[in-house]
Amino acid sequence: MKNLSVYVHIPFCKSKCHYCDFRSFENCGTDDIEEYMGDLIKEMDFYRDLGKTYVIDTIFIGGGTPSMVSSEAIAKIMERLRKLFFFTEDPEISIEGNPDTLTYDKMDHYHKLGINRLSMGLQSDNRKLLKTLGRIHSPEDFLESVENARRIGFDNINGDLMFGLPGQSLKTFQHTLQWIAKLDIPHISAYGLIINEETELARRIDQRIIPEPDEDLEVDMYDHLREFLPGKGYQHYEISNFAKPGFQCRHNRTYWENREYLGLGLGAHSSMGEKRFFNAEDFKSYHQLIQAGEKPIAGVEVLSTKERLQESLMLGLRLTEGIDMNYLESLHGITVEHSLLMKIQEFKVQGLLKNDKGRLRLSSSGLYLSNSVFREIIG
Ligand code: SF4
Repeated sequence: MKNLSVYVHIPFCKSKCHYCDFRSFENCGTDDIEEYMGDLIKEMDFYRDLGKTYVIDTIFIGGGTPSMVSSEAIAKIMERLRKLFFFTEDPEISIEGNPDTLTYDKMDHYHKLGINRLSMGLQSDNRKLLKTLGRIHSPEDFLESVENARRIGFDNINGDLMFGLPGQSLKTFQHTLQWIAKLDIPHISAYGLIINEETELARRIDQRIIPEPDEDLEVDMYDHLREFLPGKGYQHYEISNFAKPGFQCRHNRTYWENREYLGLGLGAHSSMGEKRFFNAEDFKSYHQLIQAGEKPIAGVEVLSTKERLQESLMLGLRLTEGIDMNYLESLHGITVEHSLLMKIQEFKVQGLLKNDKGRLRLSSSGLYLSNSVFREIIG
């Protein structure tokens, strides 16, 4: 039996954050939510045959805000997955939530369902910045959620942070890091803000209601982050992720190690063997396909061996431990093409990539410019 990671998408949010361009929707009615959750269960049934060859090793219930829906609806998902699949002995089962909807009772129910990892959005401990981002919780709400989660028995907790925010100073960010480090949660993800077109944040910056973030300052914040969290015992193991020993996110490592995963729900992506496929991105098509007895797949791509190697390289470089090129070649059964080796060499000369103990990895400056490096690799 092979290991499988499963992602389940719950696309509902209490209100839309100003920077968000994820597939998430606010103000959805109870009937719409119920219909979607019912469709999700039906979608799982289409994959029952996979249960003959795969065991589930990780599950990530993400969104959106999964804590928006009832814990009974989450229970149905877990029950169906357990009915269709065997699980590994010690699966990692994560759920995302926001402090405004993560009640004690919901978390308690999750824990009883075998969910053993909580991922929560803090973004900042600064009220003004939370308002700028359109977040509807306070830092105290986050603190209360962490305390409740611990009382219930969760020891694997992630907190999401953002930096490079409009009006955020280095000092404010330093304060946020000190604030979260005191909580001693074992995992922190910290993302530089990306201003996506057609978001409320982009509109406000455009209309000069809020200032445009300063790119140089964002680099200083990233530098500080990379120095501060390791000083508090967190290992910087991926571009944006930091973990105490034993708490790296196994589910996300599946993506970075280019292993197989099944995505369920609106717009979810899957990677099985050489096939990459994704689901319909609008509720109507997703619902109609499922009701018609079909998988709600909107697109399929079959990658060549060369494309899979490029993909593995690009994803593996996200990990700070880098990637063993010999292993990569043996994994895919081909040698790295001359043109790709030339690109890698060029990045080494530019100081963006380096060889370290037989592994290729991003250098410090490469971490800032990772997206340009990745674009060239798959280009
Ligand atoms: S909670 Fe997350 S998914 Fe929902 S609107 Fe905010 S950023 Fe987007």
